[in-house]
Amino acid sequence: MLEGLAQDFQLTLPYILRRAEQLYGYREIVTRRPDRSFHRHTFADFVSRAKKLAVALKGIGLEPGDRVGTLGWNTYQHLEAYFGVPSSGAVLHTLNPRLHEDDLAYIANHAEDRVMLVDEALVPVFEKFRERTGVEHAVVVTEGGEVPHGMISYEDLLSGAEEDRFEYPDFDEKQASAMCYTSGTTGRPKGVLYSHRSIVLHSMMSAMGNTFALSEADCVLPVVPMFHVNAWGLPFASVLVGAKLMMPGPHLDAESLLEDLEEEEVTLTAGVPTVFLAVLQKLDEEPDRYDLSKLRTMVIGGSAAPKGVIKAYEERHGIEVLHAWGMTEMDPIGTVAHLTTEMKKLPEEEQLEYRAKQGYPVPFVEIRARGDEGFVPWDGETMGELEVRGPWVARSYYEAPDGDDKFTDDGWFTTGDIVTIDRFGFIKITDRSKDLIKSGGEWISSVELENALMAHPAVSQAAVIAIPDEKWDERPLAAIVLKEGESATEEDLQSHLEKDFAKFWLPDAYEFVESIPMTATGKFQKLKLREQFEGYTSTKN
Ligand code: ADP
Repeated sequence: MLEGLAQDFQLTLPYILRRAEQLYGYREIVTRRPDRSFHRHTFADFVSRAKKLAVALKGIGLEPGDRVGTLGWNTYQHLEAYFGVPSSGAVLHTLNPRLHEDDLAYIANHAEDRVMLVDEALVPVFEKFRERTGVEHAVVVTEGGEVPHGMISYEDLLSGAEEDRFEYPDFDEKQASAMCYTSGTTGRPKGVLYSHRSIVLHSMMSAMGNTFALSEADCVLPVVPMFHVNAWGLPFASVLVGAKLMMPGPHLDAESLLEDLEEEEVTLTAGVPTVFLAVLQKLDEEPDRYDLSKLRTMVIGGSAAPKGVIKAYEERHGIEVLHAWGMTEMDPIGTVAHLTTEMKKLPEEEQLEYRAKQGYPVPFVEIRARGDEGFVPWDGETMGELEVRGPWVARSYYEAPDGDDKFTDDGWFTTGDIVTIDRFGFIKITDRSKDLIKSGGEWISSVELENALMAHPAVSQAAVIAIPDEKWDERPLAAIVLKEGESATEEDLQSHLEKDFAKFWLPDAYEFVESIPMTATGKFQKLKLREQFEGYTSTKN
């Protein structure tokens, strides 16, 4: 091989920090504090404090590769940890405070977190599981509030550190930089360990035109929490390009977000459908109250963005929704639903169909889907389990051999998502593999039934699960939450579905319930629902 003569420059997070210091010192970071007031500082302040954090962590004895846990909302201090921790050689481990304390204890122990940075408001969450962990240094992130017993203050930690003692390190790009645990909807939570290289490449990809098209001129508001797959990588990508950041803190209600979007002239925001549904409702109630003319893109992902929501934002409020798909195991962005020039020639209704799919793979992510008879054709109809590979896709879980079966012998990761792939390379998620209903050898998509049911005017939420059936193996059961003051019978819903689905897809049973159990990341917890209806057998044979 004749080797090329380009430099072997390592792709690491301290490089992004230095770039921010050299070029974007004037750029702003705004945070909504718990008391709703705004904290403002610049990239110059941010870099200085991130460096101090790195020095302080070394000062308390952290070794390269040690894990530093965080329990925090989207704030400027959390951003400091995003860069300060990996720049010290340690590994940033964000924990989801919405998880059950048993899971949090398990995760902190499994990761062997030595330090935990805890938002003042989340100290009660931490105290519920602290005793069960090996955390040596508990740090409360507060601006002058009380320091609970057994903890040290983040500000004291920083003020005890000399910024000048920070030296930009020359890490190997393969070194671990951050880790997240999957939310455990499929068995025990499993750790995904990102490298410096994977996050840097993911940041560059995120900024590309056909992904989020980020630049210095942007103001980014990550609604998706920083404990949820690195807020989809947006903090890293924003600092890389010098985009202003608007951090909403714990205020994720529609009114606060709309104020933030307007006042800080946000150009790109991102979050799960539930949040933006609430925002849409508020906008519909008061269409003239907010000036969102600067907002160019609203990224929706984590769960399927309903077609009606995409259309409503566009038609009623002139806001473009971009649907994206990803996973903890891939940093997380895998596909985005940007239409190509070819697709823009299609009739508008058809274009909308595509935009409501999860989109086509971003550069360097490759996809394929495996069905019962091998890899499925890209015909938009045949369902198969999606497999992916790429430079930010996990090649293994962190010390969890029971997850090995998710990785194929030829180096792909099996996602557990059942999809179709069409001729444009767009994937459409029809189910999670464990939620798919297999009836008489045919596959029924619970997601499609749910979407259709939720389009019924009386239905607020619908979750469809499989129940055992002697003749067909499995049949669908629909759990329905009705909107307040509305009514619908089983027959109404059945005839609503009949129009669009083959007869064998129609649920055998409807159960009207008060609520559907949700996971800590706002998705239907079908495992719980299945437990609730255990022993339920279909009677319609
Ligand atoms: P978990 O699988 O533990 O809930 P993740 O937060 O990593 O954790 O979620 C990844 C999963 O979320 C995907 O495998 C997929 O099932 C679902 N998901 C993510 N984005 C979308 C989307 N745009 N549409 C439908 N499902 C999505």
